[in-house]
Amino acid sequence: STALVWFRRDLRVADQPTFLAAGRGRRALALFVLDPRLVRPAGEARRWFLSGCLRALDESLRGRLLVVEGDPVEVVPRVAREAGAVQVHVAADFGPYGQARDQAVERALGEDGRLLVRTGSPYAVAPGRVRSADGGRYRVFTPFRRAWADHGWRPPADTDAGFLDWIDPATLAVAATPIPPEPPVTAELPDPGEAAAHRRWEVFRRDALEDYADGRDRPDRPGTSKLSPYLKFGCVHPRTLLADLAGSTGDGADAFRAELAWRDFYADVLDQRPDSARRNYDRSFDALATDSGPEADRLFAAWREGRTGFPVVDAGMRQLLAEGWMHNRVRMITASFLVKDLHLPWWWGARHFMRALVDGDLAANQHGWQWVAGSGTDAAPYFRVFNPVLQGERFDPDGDYVRTYVPELAGIAGKAVHQPWKLPGGPPDGYPAPVVDHRHERVVALDRYEAVRAAR
Ligand code: FAD
Repeated sequence: STALVWFRRDLRVADQPTFLAAGRGRRALALFVLDPRLVRPAGEARRWFLSGCLRALDESLRGRLLVVEGDPVEVVPRVAREAGAVQVHVAADFGPYGQARDQAVERALGEDGRLLVRTGSPYAVAPGRVRSADGGRYRVFTPFRRAWADHGWRPPADTDAGFLDWIDPATLAVAATPIPPEPPVTAELPDPGEAAAHRRWEVFRRDALEDYADGRDRPDRPGTSKLSPYLKFGCVHPRTLLADLAGSTGDGADAFRAELAWRDFYADVLDQRPDSARRNYDRSFDALATDSGPEADRLFAAWREGRTGFPVVDAGMRQLLAEGWMHNRVRMITASFLVKDLHLPWWWGARHFMRALVDGDLAANQHGWQWVAGSGTDAAPYFRVFNPVLQGERFDPDGDYVRTYVPELAGIAGKAVHQPWKLPGGPPDGYPAPVVDHRHERVVALDRYEAVRAAR
């Protein structure tokens, strides 16, 4: 019979274990369900990128990708019935919504004897697989990473677009939804799709991998891979990257493997504790005092728009609006500023990031935020409050990053750009004075964190 391949976060044809599970040469229907519950919370940038990835996948499949808008619990069984497919092949999803959805789809398929077959996942090692000697799960990164490396991963699946015999969806009585046109965006976004992911990876390996261990902390340089949107949508699988790095022993390759381990770690943690997507992983932080009201709203708006008067914070927030992406070091700085200088709840910031990021990913984002807030796994010592000026001077030493994203400051040479209020005559026209006094807010934050610690 025909196989149904339901694509979700695996918008590629290379290294596709679901194709292997369907069987070489099998007649197959390729399906993507545009689920409003997943599409609606995404901002324009991520929707734009998703549309582009779907178009690229459809091109690889010579126009044979069926896209249907609706609730997968209704759409998938209906399409399976229409195509005469007994098996529906997917890569397992481990997010809280995805798991519940897949269980519901599985039940609905089962009503007329059809099966949901899960093969592979978006991770090098799927959540739940990395275990300690006594079978327990990890809550701290370093031991997880060691066990993750010992566990190892499969070699890439040797698949391509021609692996299956794709049927033309136009021959079925199913109303297809056209791939949504990319919404107009002002942001400068990466080229979507599988081929673009591989090009990006080649450029990174050639130009930046060797120096990645140090280069990854410098937002003023193209030192990181910028593969996150591609990994988010599965245009490339981390296993493919790890296989390309096999045998590379340099610091750069080691540091890069560690970042892929962080990605798997946070997915594992979210799988252990689905509630940590919405609440503090460490519940004792529920007691942390945060601000609200009109003044908090005003500061939150200044943060979102990149008008805090702290140049590296503003550059980061504007890079996010301009590119749907922000450098990791600056994600930490801007997140720390929201939590420890503005005293706002981390989930306000996490929600804004989730909408705006092309790579917005529940596990990495919510746990990245909680790492900064100190309420997650591997809690950064709560008494470590990032100083936005020192962070800027250290990681953007010549000020190039700030000048790229904050045009009001483009005329200030060198690292003086990090403290425009110190210029004779004050900050340039149109650039705000600092919205808070960092030294004061640091003390406030430390007092509030100390109160949480004392109450434990
Ligand atoms: P590289 O340095 O080239 O790293 C390679 C890959 O490793 C990344 O593409 C990513 O898939 C993975 N990776 C790297 N660092 C991390 C990390 N700390 N946690 C998990 N995976 C990691 N990453 C997301 O993919 N989506 C998010 O929504 C997201 N939100 C974040 C929010 C905050 C507050 C923080 C501090 C970090 C967040 N990150 C998120 C992690 C990290 O900032 C991005 O993965 C990274 O900046 C992406 O750029 P890159 O591809 O050039 O990374």
